[in-house]
Amino acid sequence: MRRALAEAERAASAGDVPVGAVLLGPDGTELAAAHNEREATGDPTAHAEILALRRAAEAVGEWRLTGCTLVVTLEPCTMCAGALVQSRVARVVYGAHDEKAGAAGSLWDVIRDRRLNHRPEVVAGVLEDDCATRLTAFFRTL
Ligand SMILES: [Zn+2]
Repeated sequence: MRRALAEAERAASAGDVPVGAVLLGPDGTELAAAHNEREATGDPTAHAEILALRRAAEAVGEWRLTGCTLVVTLEPCTMCAGALVQSRVARVVYGAHDEKAGAAGSLWDVIRDRRLNHRPEVVAGVLEDDCATRLTAFFRTL
């Protein structure tokens, strides 16, 4: 999560909402890291999780990220939650809860919806205070 927070910092310095993500392989090695790049690229789908999934899939050479873990500083939104299910990651670890848009337990629980045939494990609230503080500080400056 500290590595994901460092990525979040890079987003903030580019004017993007500070969210960072790291994708770990089944053995714990880092496959990809990314930060929110919506402002930087003008791409509405350029959330940290989506970019990390794309980069990791490119690194391993296939779309299935079986056994992998995505670590992200903010609870995934519906788009990212859907992409995480599609990618078949084994685990999603997040820091701050997002009561307004979170889709991993707060507003919805897309990731663990029992109607889906793949449901990654969710670990919430890791370094939650650090992750939330970074976001709050960013929005205070706007
Ligand atoms: Zn998202």
